[in-house]
Amino acid sequence: MATKLPTVDALLVGFGWTGAILGQELTDAGLNVLALERGGWRDTATDFATSFIQDELRFYYRHELFQEPARETLSFRNSTIEVALPMRQLGSFLPASGVGGAGIHWNGQNWRFLPSDFLTRSHNTERYGAAAIPDTMTVQDWGVTYDDLEPYYDRWEHLCGISGKAGNIKGQIQPGGNPFEGPRSRDFPNPPMEMTYGPTLFAQAARDIGLKPFPAPSANMSRAYTNPLGVQLGPCTYCGFCEKFGCGNYSKASPQTTILPVLLRKKNFTLKTECEVIKINLDSDKKRAVSVTYIDTQGEEYEQPAELIILSAFVLHNVHLLLLSGIGTPYDPNTGRGTLGKNYAYQIVSSVDVFYDDKILNPFIGAGALGMVVDEFNGDNFDHTNLGFIGGGYIACWNTNGRPIETHLVPDGTPKWGATWKKAVVENYLKSMSLATHGSVMSHRGNYLDLDPTYRDFLGRPLMRMTFDFTENEHKMSDFLTGKTTEIARALKAREIRSNPRKGHYDITPYQTTHNTGGAIMGSNPQESVLNRYLQHWDVSNLFVMGSSAFPQNAGYNPTGTVAALALWSANAIKTQYLKTPGPLVQP
Ligand SMILES: Cc1cc2nc3c(=O)[nH]c(=O)nc-3n(C[C@H](O)[C@H](O)[C@H](O)COP(=O)(O)OP(=O)(O)OC[C@H]3O[C@@H](n4cnc5c(N)ncnc54)[C@H](O)[C@@H]3O)c2cc1C
Ligand code: SF4
Repeated sequence: MATKLPTVDALLVGFGWTGAILGQELTDAGLNVLALERGGWRDTATDFATSFIQDELRFYYRHELFQEPARETLSFRNSTIEVALPMRQLGSFLPASGVGGAGIHWNGQNWRFLPSDFLTRSHNTERYGAAAIPDTMTVQDWGVTYDDLEPYYDRWEHLCGISGKAGNIKGQIQPGGNPFEGPRSRDFPNPPMEMTYGPTLFAQAARDIGLKPFPAPSANMSRAYTNPLGVQLGPCTYCGFCEKFGCGNYSKASPQTTILPVLLRKKNFTLKTECEVIKINLDSDKKRAVSVTYIDTQGEEYEQPAELIILSAFVLHNVHLLLLSGIGTPYDPNTGRGTLGKNYAYQIVSSVDVFYDDKILNPFIGAGALGMVVDEFNGDNFDHTNLGFIGGGYIACWNTNGRPIETHLVPDGTPKWGATWKKAVVENYLKSMSLATHGSVMSHRGNYLDLDPTYRDFLGRPLMRMTFDFTENEHKMSDFLTGKTTEIARALKAREIRSNPRKGHYDITPYQTTHNTGGAIMGSNPQESVLNRYLQHWDVSNLFVMGSSAFPQNAGYNPTGTVAALALWSANAIKTQYLKTPGPLVQP
């Protein structure tokens, strides 16, 4: 029997990036807000001190900051004709656990999506004709536009102190920035990061073949910065222990270094850690969320009532909780009916490695979002006529790290182990680098999330089942991007290059990105989406769902800039519309 607790005005389920944003915004509106986070407390100076955070084995390989599969996992299959099996070790993506969520150990590669990315169906149909989108591709427009989100992208970039160079201010193309980006109202708050040797060579080679490289927008600080909340961040030291690590220098934007110093001091905010929400409870007519049920570390159950419930638990847990709570109609890939779990998507990456004889690149001088990028082949920045695919991605030379266990680029033909492999690692460590592609994934009829009929978690609840594979569209697009990357690699005039194209089925075991999307998508009508344009549930108007679960398909950029802009946009709608007149913000 669950212990029933007093009602709060607003309840946050999960306390990562989106939880922190909503906490800050809703407490500003005067609400009493409670956040429930399944993981433990984490603080910048104590938990990520440079005296121990640079432990590759502990954090990178043994996943100390991530979700533990023994407690929560999912089952996976490539297609509906296979039997899904539970993942006993996570690889391809690494959901977070603990205060700050994945905002602790993200890289900080911070992007805006292109204006056309929000209009995937209508834009591509208009430019290339209806045949460009096959029947099996379930892409749709978002119901929100780039112009709607621009002020919120801007707020987020200033909250985080993004380092970068604008490419388009109010329609004026700016030299040195990304000329393809949508118009922005002002420049980034900080100048670009100092560029290391490898990305500088990449940029020159890209220029040599007529491309327009620019410094990646980065949530690693290029200089000391005080954000609009008055929170101070310090300059990045290019330590190279960034992705999958916390930053003890206060140099990477995270909830801890941007929002929490203000939010945690507010009297109308409460955070409870090690409290895992296991269900959202509805009233009898299923139109209103009345409470959540959660368990603490002792397994004690509590019922926490709330007037407003915000799911901010990351894509996979948002969708899993909705499925377990029976909120919405699960998607059926055979009939195409139902919306919950529909349009799960991901990203497709490939790389080209470059080996020099005469250049010392010192790869260990790095940061999570340090790099040069070209965007000519992203989204619809190029003519797709007769290419047989839609979408695209960026090509980057990142200098994220030269961590000793992880970094061992060796040329083709090197044995996988033994003395010859060791010799090749020593010879090439300082003289090699990798060019990466980061491609979009369109949504397809057979890619979705639902409840596993067989496997259960530690509480006896069905695991979430993921059914996903890359399709012809993604393979063609990734081949195209890898080919363009090879052209840049050739222009680098190195001793040797090695191309690593993405072939075959999606493999869930090696790390790729934690850029999972979809499953509780936004849109303009309840027949096709779970959420309206304000991230409000179509059926349950006091339930809002944050995060990239709302993306109807995935673009060729890292998602968090757009996740955050959507969270701020949704928070604004709650503050200015919902709290005045609670109920649906959009009539179906
Ligand atoms: C290694 C890594 C590198 C990344 N690098 C980048 C990058 O460079 N650029 C980029 O754009 N994105 C990057 N990302 C993705 C980025 O971190 C996410 O997009 C972002 O953190 C999502 O915010 P969120 O609030 O939706 O989820 P999160 O920040 O993950 O927060 C969700 C929180 O909810 C909690 N939670 C889950 N279930 C429950 C439950 N049932 N009850 C209570 N709490 C719960 C979790 O423990 C977690 O703390 C990276 C991710 C990883 C893992
Ligand atoms: S590279 Fe910079 S931002 Fe990243 S962990 Fe090191 S000091 Fe922090």
